[in-house]
This record gives sequence, C-alpha cells and structure tokens, in this order.
Amino acid sequence: MTGVSLKNIKKSYGGLEVVHGVDIEIEKGEFVVFVGPSGCGKSTLLRMIAGLEEISGGDLEIHGQRVNDVDPSNRGVAMVFQTYALYPHMTVDQNMGFGLRMNGTPKAEVAKRVSEAAKILQIEDLLDRKPKQLSGGQRQRVAIGRAIVRHPQVFLFDEPLSNLDAELRVATRLELAKLHQQLAGSTMIYVTHDQVEAMTLADKIVVLRKGRVEQIGAPMELYENPANLFVAGFIGSPK
Ligand code: ADP
Ligand code: MG
Repeated sequence: MTGVSLKNIKKSYGGLEVVHGVDIEIEKGEFVVFVGPSGCGKSTLLRMIAGLEEISGGDLEIHGQRVNDVDPSNRGVAMVFQTYALYPHMTVDQNMGFGLRMNGTPKAEVAKRVSEAAKILQIEDLLDRKPKQLSGGQRQRVAIGRAIVRHPQVFLFDEPLSNLDAELRVATRLELAKLHQQLAGSTMIYVTHDQVEAMTLADKIVVLRKGRVEQIGAPMELYENPANLFVAGFIGSPK
C-alpha cells in the first residue's frame, strides 16, 4: 500500500523554482531517507509533506488521498525538527502533551499517550524536568516523543541528529531504527546530508540534487549500481 506519493511536485519562492517536478513513491511502513547536499531541497520537500509550506505544483497523496490543501493537523503526519522546538517554560510532560491538549484530546487520553511514548523512549524519569535541565540527546527524545503521542501515520524527521555530538549521533541513530520497528506500520521520511545515516537507516534512499531526484533505490542498489557520478560520489564517499 502506498504511504506517501509525490507526483511532479514543484516549489517556487518568489518566482524562482527550487523544486523542479519531483516524483517519489513511498510504501506504507517504509523508512525512506532523503539525502543530498545542502540547498538541494530536502527540507522544502519535507515541509510541503508536513503542510508547513504551500505546494506550487503537482499532487501530494497520503494513503491515497490528495492532501495538497489539507490542514497540517489533519494529514496524519508529525514532524521532528532539527532544533527540537521545545517550549522552555513547560515540563517534558507538558511539552509532549501540548499538541494533543490543543486538539481537545481528553486529559486521561493525553496522560496515557505521554506515558506510552515516555516508556518507548525511556524518558519516564524526566517528565517533570524543563528543557534546560536536559542534555541534547534527551531533548531530542522529547521532540520525538511529541511526535509519537500524536500517533501519526507518517513521521517526518529533518536532520534530527545534526545537533548531537558524534558518539550520541550513532547511539540515537540505532534507537531510531529500533523505534521504527516498535512503531511497525508507521512510515518514516528522514532527511539528512549524512551518507552514513542514509546507508544505515534507509529501506530506500532518495538522492536529491538541485531540486531534482537523481536516483531512488535501496542502499545497496545505489552503492553497487549508482546512476551517475554524482550518486557514486555521494553514496560512496567515506566519512
Ligand atoms: P536543504 O534542506 O536540502 O538544505 P532547502 O530545502 O532548505 O535545502 O532549500 C532548497 C532551496 O530553496 C535553496 O536554494 C534555498 O535557498 C531555497 N529556499 C528555502 N527556503 C526558502 C525561503 N523561505 N525563501 C526563499 N528561498 C528558500
Ligand atoms: Mg534542510
């Protein structure tokens, strides 16, 4: 079953086109990584899927439904940002439940979902802390927890590990892979410019360059059979 489908998706800012007709088919439950150099349009694509950015052309479908004009909160997607975007004055508990409370979700249901997510992420002992009392890695878990409580069909991650130090990045990467298994059935779209992250996390990699798709395939397919020198250089280059 198709999870997310991008058909000839375009984006212009003030008359300047930066995404030039992108086609990507993502199966439900797949872990897909968008990879490519800075400025190639990764975040723009993700923000269009999230509904945070208007789509200039083409069709975006989630589970077979065209959602170009559907409100972000009704798309079944949740985004985890690079900068975490936590509310400094709220506790971890309040941060995680905030979106649900705003939607009018009953208190007991909010509490249940927050405790569920805290358990998955192993942050049950941090629920009463404020963001400034947390390490970078712990903040990142809270940001992921805030997405999990919404029970989205599609998770969107924009370079979620880029603010962590190298060691923590590896540990968190392994946890993300585990999370995908635990939340079986949920589709994950993960943006990075890091080849190693792409190779280790992805069921399928989308290589982007200057607002266009260069190649789509499983990590080993791209590695063994790159479509061109750009893909070969990007996927193959050691880090
Ligand atoms: P990436 O995430 O791959 O680094 P982006 O999606 O952020 O790339 O950007 C793709 C292109 O769109 C870049 O050329 C960038 O300068 C341009 N761009 C992104 N956001 C805006 C904006 N709000 N206004 C104008 N140009 C933008
Ligand atoms: Mg970006």
